[in-house]
Amino acid sequence: MKKCKQLLCCLLSMLLLAGCSAGAAEPDPEAAESSTQYMDAMDTFMTLTAYGSNRDDALNAAVEEIQRLEALWSVGSEDSEVSQLNREGTAVLSEDTAALVERALEIYDSTGGAFDITVYPLMELWGFTTQDYQVPEASDLQAALALVGADRVTYDSSTSTVTLGEGQSIDLGGIAKGYTSQRIMELFEEMGVTSAMVSLGGNIQCLGTKPDGSLWRVGIQDPVGSEGAIVAVIEVEDQAVITSGSYERYFTDEATGETYHHIIDPATGYPADSGLISVTIVTDDGALGDALSTALFIMGLEEGTAYWQAHSDEFQAVFITTDSEIYVTAGLEDSVTADAGYTLLT
Ligand code: ADP
Ligand code: MG
Repeated sequence: MKKCKQLLCCLLSMLLLAGCSAGAAEPDPEAAESSTQYMDAMDTFMTLTAYGSNRDDALNAAVEEIQRLEALWSVGSEDSEVSQLNREGTAVLSEDTAALVERALEIYDSTGGAFDITVYPLMELWGFTTQDYQVPEASDLQAALALVGADRVTYDSSTSTVTLGEGQSIDLGGIAKGYTSQRIMELFEEMGVTSAMVSLGGNIQCLGTKPDGSLWRVGIQDPVGSEGAIVAVIEVEDQAVITSGSYERYFTDEATGETYHHIIDPATGYPADSGLISVTIVTDDGALGDALSTALFIMGLEEGTAYWQAHSDEFQAVFITTDSEIYVTAGLEDSVTADAGYTLLT
């Protein structure tokens, strides 16, 4: 009997030990191994890098997810949910589109209308949707401007139904990539990846740290320098780093030599002319970061700083002015380095 008890004790402790070692995370022998996938989607070039033994499955799942989301939102495809909505003026939205539209409308409110997904008629008029660029006639501009205003969009969350105002159409291009990078981070986590970085056309989002525990280093492009030149580096962990710049997409009017970029001020119908050349948002919320990079670019340094002061728990920012001055919000003081120096905003 005693022997039996001893044996039982022994067995139990072995079981406990086994249980314990299975409970503690086994070190991943491939933790430092990485894979990278490249793809063209959402009108831009994307690079996805993930580390660890599940990296390839996770990357394949991410590529599929990006293609799924693109098919929902592409204004270039007649079958997309957004095209359908723009044609019919009302639609019952799928879960992701509903979440994105709801978010976009919240940010419209909080930014005083600077971020407005109903700018689509203006994007069309300027030719940004077809690359058949033109400076609009004043009368055409007034007609398109009359269609802009997300306060006329209604969203019923109980039925996921969105209804546009008369003649309105929407474009999720200012928020879709941030939502997507956020979604990929969730997907990676679900699939056991703890270290990853994606760049969706310059919209960067990082998961965890690098496998060796060091921070990710994300460069901010020099808006006036040669391609690839960097004016500042931000070190982050588990954050999105999202930039909107007037140098990203623009055309030059041959008659006047004037350039026009793709971030439209919904108040004027013209490309925003706020004294900024780029705005970078750092936040753990990709969709917010994407929308705010666009909105704060339109607001300009002064109004953008006031917005940050009221929402400093949600994001940090780096502003670059047209005269190449760099301004950094207080929360990034220890994370940003810039050779040319910068002014800290408090
Ligand atoms: P990118 O698409 O180059 O990353 P942004 O994130 O700044 O740049 O988004 C610009 C896109 O957002 C435009 O191409 C257009 O689709 C849309 N857009 C332009 N102006 C606005 C605005 N005021 N509010 C919301 N979306 C906008
Ligand atoms: Mg944006």
